[in-house]
Amino acid sequence: MQVPFVNLGAQFQLVEDELVSEFLRLGRSGQFILGEDVEKFERQLADFCETEYAISVANGTDALILVMKALNIGEGDEVITVPNSFIASAGAISVVGATPVFVDVGEDYNLDATKLEAAITPNTKAIVPVHLTGNPADIDAITDVIGDREIVVIEDAAQAIGATYRGKKVGSLGLAGGFSLHPLKNLSLLGDAGFISTNSESLYQSLKQLRNHGLENRDHSVQWSVNSRLDTVQAAFGNVKLAHLPKWTERFQAIAARYSEQLSDVVTCPKVRPEDCAVFHNYVIRTTEREALMGFLKARGVDTKIHYPIPLHLMDAASALGYKHGDFPETEKQSQEIMSLPIYPELTDEQVDYVCQQICGFFET
Ligand SMILES: *Cc1c(COP(=O)(O)O)cnc(C)c1O
Repeated sequence: MQVPFVNLGAQFQLVEDELVSEFLRLGRSGQFILGEDVEKFERQLADFCETEYAISVANGTDALILVMKALNIGEGDEVITVPNSFIASAGAISVVGATPVFVDVGEDYNLDATKLEAAITPNTKAIVPVHLTGNPADIDAITDVIGDREIVVIEDAAQAIGATYRGKKVGSLGLAGGFSLHPLKNLSLLGDAGFISTNSESLYQSLKQLRNHGLENRDHSVQWSVNSRLDTVQAAFGNVKLAHLPKWTERFQAIAARYSEQLSDVVTCPKVRPEDCAVFHNYVIRTTEREALMGFLKARGVDTKIHYPIPLHLMDAASALGYKHGDFPETEKQSQEIMSLPIYPELTDEQVDYVCQQICGFFET
């Protein structure tokens, strides 16, 4: 049996007719930038995230960059995030001119709030917790540490659309949430795409300008900015695909449960607080025999990956920050032991069971 790590074509085929008809409708109308389809998508995304507003942008990295730009976070400011995330979490902070400051993670792969206080300085302007793998970070513990300081929480929810923390949707927990709709994310469009969720009207108004050259109307810019609009055709595809997301999310969760049931005796399986609901963008297991297990599975048709093999503080891009090996022991240890199993709605139970049989077989030998 073959179990590829991703199969984007399979999901496309499920909604192919709907997408093609949207493509034809927009092509014939000539509406290619912004317009009603984008507005409709933003309303639907805001409803989905249980926030007042959603603003679509070109990708998830821009979502984070533009929120920080809107808040005037830049030169001389520090923004705290985690060192085990995808590059963009720290990259976005650097791109606005601020300094990324890392805090180690806990066993849930998310920011360890007990280590947060030590990283806060008078220059700390924001904390960007990442809901890594689609499992919500402990936001209440983070806001408790912040106390009355004027430090905002910007959720990096790129991997977590639909997840809930104590009954509340991610993206509604901080001042703003940054989401990615990249083809590999749980709600995936046919190229780069992203959005920001927020309950702040003033932030919403600034973001609408900042994603479009700082324009307040067709002819007048109030602040130099970039072009980070979401293509209208992608928004139309998004309207089609968002309607399917709840059932796809249930499938992610069912696959995760099936993995956990069969694998928890042989490897460390993901832990989700009972009051929270994770969406399993990745299903990450931990084992000290990772390299051998990955090779064993590869030889048996099962593709696995590592999210992520190089912690952010050890990347060349971070060299000017002055971090070194040993600074974040939990992140560094995890990066040696974690591996991600295939998980996507189109994966069959037979494939999941096959992966589990192979893994159990590896540990029996
Ligand atoms: C994917 C991702 C991003 C960036 O999203 P893009 O749409 O690829 O720019 C940011 N943060 C995390 C945690 C991600 O997984």
